Amino acid sequence: MTGFILETEGLTKQFAGFVAVKDVHLKVREGTIHALIGPNGAGKTTCFNLITKFLQPSAGTIRYDGKDITKAAPHDVAQDGLVRSFQISAVFPHLTALENVRLALQRPTGLSFRFWKAEHVLESLNERARDLLEAVGLSEFVETPAVSLPYGRKRALEIATTLALEPKVMLLDEPMAGMGHEDIARVSALIRKVSKDRTVLMVEHNLEVVADLSDTITVLQRGQILAEGTYEEVSRNEEVRQAYMGTGDE
Ligand code: ADP
Repeated sequence: MTGFILETEGLTKQFAGFVAVKDVHLKVREGTIHALIGPNGAGKTTCFNLITKFLQPSAGTIRYDGKDITKAAPHDVAQDGLVRSFQISAVFPHLTALENVRLALQRPTGLSFRFWKAEHVLESLNERARDLLEAVGLSEFVETPAVSLPYGRKRALEIATTLALEPKVMLLDEPMAGMGHEDIARVSALIRKVSKDRTVLMVEHNLEVVADLSDTITVLQRGQILAEGTYEEVSRNEEVRQAYMGTGDE
């Protein structure tokens, strides 16, 4: 049995008197896909922002990979492998898929543009970037500018740039938002594939996807954990059915 790679204890965030996240004890087991679900305004995004250190908690602690990161800076936790997949807007639209991944690869190593001139360095970066693009199914789009990629493929590129940072825990913020069936199937398969070597924590509204992918689901409501468990377990919970799924009578 593996341990918890990410744990929050009493995590609380208050915005000018309004408690958006209240006393959340979240435990994410290493090597699993863990989904955070809940109605709009439940506090999911705030939790993500707290965990990735974009926001400071009002109270509580966050442990990641055996370390207390409650007071750590966002770039430090990202460097340590707790990486959030950024929105599509963070991908450089006019750079090719290869260039985008190559830039992401340069970040953790701190390679400067001066080094970039060295032919062998450039070639090894290109090779790693191509491998990552292949891993996410984008081999045929290597030279395509990000802006010209079909929607689902942009998400795959975003995942490739995140993988370039060698995450141990990858946080995905609504990876299926705005996607059709085909893209959902493709990105689901991709998430399952990347989760073989790492932990995935995702916020996702599509319950079919959540049911299909997640080992564990945490249901948030009004900033608090309402239920936690497998999809079967949480969907049997009467409070969850009433509050979130709207199927309390079934
Ligand atoms: P979710 O992602 O589950 O939809 P959020 O975490 O975005 O929920 O928001 C939770 C609650 O906190 C909402 O009521 C929202 O209006 C409030 N909130 C989020 N960010 C801020 C902020 N920066 N200032 C004030 N209130 C905020």
